[in-house]
Amino acid sequence: MTQEELFKKLVAHCKEYGFVFPSSEIYDGLGAVYDYGQNGVELKNNIKRYWWDSMVKLHENIVGLDAAIFMHPKTWEASGHLAAFNDPLIAHRDSKKRYRADVLIEDWLGKQDEKIEKEVEKARKRFGADFDEAKYRATSPRVAETAAKRDEVHARFAAAMNANDLTELRQIILDCEIACPISGTRNWTEVRQFNLMFSTQMGSTADGASTIYLRPETAQGIFVNFLNVQKTGRMKLPFGIAQIGKAFRNEIVARQFIFRMREFEQMEMQFFVRPGTEMQWWNEWKNTRMAWHRALGFGDDNYRFHDHEKLAHYANAATDIEYNFPFGFKEVEGIHSRTDFDLGNHQRLSGKKLQYFDPETGESYVPYVVETSIGVDRMFLQVMSAAYTEEKLDGGEQRVVLRFPAALAPVKVAVLPLVKKDGMPEVAQKIVDLLKYDFNVVYDEKDSVGKRYRRQDAIGTPFCVTVDGQTLEDNTVTVRYRDTMQQERIAIDALYHLVDEECSYRKLFKKLNL
Ligand code: ATP
Repeated sequence: MTQEELFKKLVAHCKEYGFVFPSSEIYDGLGAVYDYGQNGVELKNNIKRYWWDSMVKLHENIVGLDAAIFMHPKTWEASGHLAAFNDPLIAHRDSKKRYRADVLIEDWLGKQDEKIEKEVEKARKRFGADFDEAKYRATSPRVAETAAKRDEVHARFAAAMNANDLTELRQIILDCEIACPISGTRNWTEVRQFNLMFSTQMGSTADGASTIYLRPETAQGIFVNFLNVQKTGRMKLPFGIAQIGKAFRNEIVARQFIFRMREFEQMEMQFFVRPGTEMQWWNEWKNTRMAWHRALGFGDDNYRFHDHEKLAHYANAATDIEYNFPFGFKEVEGIHSRTDFDLGNHQRLSGKKLQYFDPETGESYVPYVVETSIGVDRMFLQVMSAAYTEEKLDGGEQRVVLRFPAALAPVKVAVLPLVKKDGMPEVAQKIVDLLKYDFNVVYDEKDSVGKRYRRQDAIGTPFCVTVDGQTLEDNTVTVRYRDTMQQERIAIDALYHLVDEECSYRKLFKKLNL
């Protein structure tokens, strides 16, 4: 199965098992907008809880906030979003499709890397056991030619992006002979800047109404509340403010399912520090956030840092944590050193002092900020991609199982009476009652037990508990484990402890060493 086929299956699975639906699907959906179904919302809430508690509960110097989506329009002037939150848009005259010029070039660069890898693999097969990969990479003329071309384009691309040189971006697309994936031709328009913010009107009359924006990031709600929180919480630097909330971007190309949406959710934390210490904190947060991802147990090699070449208008250092998705390594989270850009500009435009009096130095200053910013939906897709597994079983049968870390699983326990009679449903219901106050539990009595197990595997339920004839005699049940499919007989009284040990966030949090 190719990675592309795998991804298609994953998207279909998300729909079939109540994780993600296209928005307003009965009207054929809305581009890059999605709804979360009965299992999706549980997984999403669990991801948010993992993030929130690791930030707010496990750091004494981080507190939470829930700011409004609508903000005073000046906010976006100060933040630079009105002037600079643009993507370079290029359209194709034949297919009428619109693309991000930078993404077309990045994809082309990615293809050159793939070409090199293919050459290496071919050579490996040709030379067999004697193959010296390092030597081949260093000496093959084909590899050298492709790498030189890639490096040259890469340098031109980075320079054009940094200089906002739209003509040069178009020239790179022409020089690399990049064709429209739909029409296969190269009839490109000019490149122009496209602002990603959605706007609407606030106020009842056209005259009195003012244009306001749906926030493109949650961070600004934190900046404008910096003093409110600092003063009322008597916070001392360094300290952080964490927030989870919706953000909106009118993305040019909406591809890859919930990877890039027009309405999505962010989990952001702004960490306020003394100027001059920001690099130390940036490094600290890089490590803390990487540990958070790796604690989920999806394989350390599937994550990497990718430092930014083009820094956003507000940053003096930036890195992404990338995950190895079925469509390659892509950003899940950004860790940015935002300097005093935001607070400084809000101070200037509002005329209000946004400063901190440092009792240690006796000075007042505008703090510097290190931000960690992760998309809930993108994290959801990351967890789904990592968890989705197809397995061949003995006897030729196949199962799809979602290997979620137990704390994130939408349903923790399925309670299954072997048959719908002889008092088994009643005992099963009692077990549901025993667990339901602390865990998401389902009761299922339809179909054979085998089919019921498959249904639970497909939504990633760690435990299936079966009530049978013996249960009625000795108060024991069969527990079936999702990953190993092994079964074990245990006392009903021991169930709570078993589920709690495995499903609690404690297990994850302890790995973070916070
Ligand atoms: P990209 O380069 O993929 O457009 P970005 O660098 O603009 O992302 P940031 O502004 O750093 O993204 O936003 C922080 C996080 O928010 C990202 O790491 C991602 O997880 C999430 N995010 C950003 N845009 C979207 C989107 N359109 N849909 C879903 N999640 C998003």
